[in-house]
Amino acid sequence: TANRLNIFTESVIRGTTRLANQHGAINLSQGFPDFDPPEPLLAGLEKATRGPHHQYAMTWGAPRFRDALARKISRFTGLQVDPDQHLVVTCGSTEAMMVAMMTACNPGDRVIVFSPFYENYAADAILCGAEPIYVPLRLPDFHFDEDELARAFALKPKAIVVCNPSNPTGKVFTRDELVTILRFAEEHDTFVITDEPYEHIVFAPHEHVYFSALPGAASRTLTCNSLSKTYSITGWRLGYVHAAPEVIAQARKVHDFLTVGAAAPLQEAAVAGLELPDSYYAGLRDLYTRKRDVFLGYLRQTGLPFTEPHGAYFTLVDISSLGFAHDSEASEWLIKEIGVAGVAGSSFFREPVNHLIRFHFAKNEDTLHAAGERLLKLR
Ligand code: GLN
Repeated sequence: TANRLNIFTESVIRGTTRLANQHGAINLSQGFPDFDPPEPLLAGLEKATRGPHHQYAMTWGAPRFRDALARKISRFTGLQVDPDQHLVVTCGSTEAMMVAMMTACNPGDRVIVFSPFYENYAADAILCGAEPIYVPLRLPDFHFDEDELARAFALKPKAIVVCNPSNPTGKVFTRDELVTILRFAEEHDTFVITDEPYEHIVFAPHEHVYFSALPGAASRTLTCNSLSKTYSITGWRLGYVHAAPEVIAQARKVHDFLTVGAAAPLQEAAVAGLELPDSYYAGLRDLYTRKRDVFLGYLRQTGLPFTEPHGAYFTLVDISSLGFAHDSEASEWLIKEIGVAGVAGSSFFREPVNHLIRFHFAKNEDTLHAAGERLLKLR
């Protein structure tokens, strides 16, 4: 088999879910909810199963879905979005990222990735023959050093990946930080590939700034996004790339030959989500703020240090005091002996970091209480 497959491992996130299921642990590893999507999506799904939506949708996205998506993106970014020119609908942000990377990069190109990072980014770069280069996000607030970023840009990368709000750090990039990234990208003529599935899960007083909406950013930004987290439909696999028409024309080719298209009945059903009023998003923010407070409340009682997310639904817990040589042993022990699954932090870092476990709190409050009670044994 191909040599490039020896440069990265299987996803530790998805592997941890399998181990959690095998041992019946409460799964706070792979981030997905244990509650249903909003009612209009369920009704939409029921209706879609009886409608004429059982064959391929148009490859770059069903027209009704793209129309609703364009309106929804406009509503939050203030940008004019033409459903026929600015969008390609993908199978989740996972495919969107792969499409974006293949659209932007030639084999041999470099791609800047902030570390820690969501593990797909390195694999995506390698799969399209590119080389990830890393810029650390420094504790305690996961800021980047401008000189380090300058040195990475000096290597003439073709693209930079910005996950915002960030998985696994919970960092929400400030406008100033994003403008700094944009200035470097302009200076070196670099694409900016953003991954923003947690756009609506941001905790006050923090606010999400859309990179694509920064003045001058639109022509070089490939925004990858997903409906998974916003509407609690991770299994529907619906995402998209939003970019300038010239870029989208190329991205559509990549997407078409990768997957032909996202599931037609699910695109139809998801229109109801895209049309939900602003109050839905305010409610989502409140819901996740409560979940964060419940879960972090238990962590505080364990006495273990942890990161306070500004957005997304992850926290990195420092398990140094538990005395494990490697975080993967700690993760396995937590699953088998404590009954709660989290992801070994090392899988997110370029640097040799071995003392963190990532937990997510996208669960019903009952589940969070049950997991929290178990974690209290770590006191
Ligand atoms: N983004 C979620 C996580 O990091 C789910 C990732 C996935 O498995 N697609 O856990």
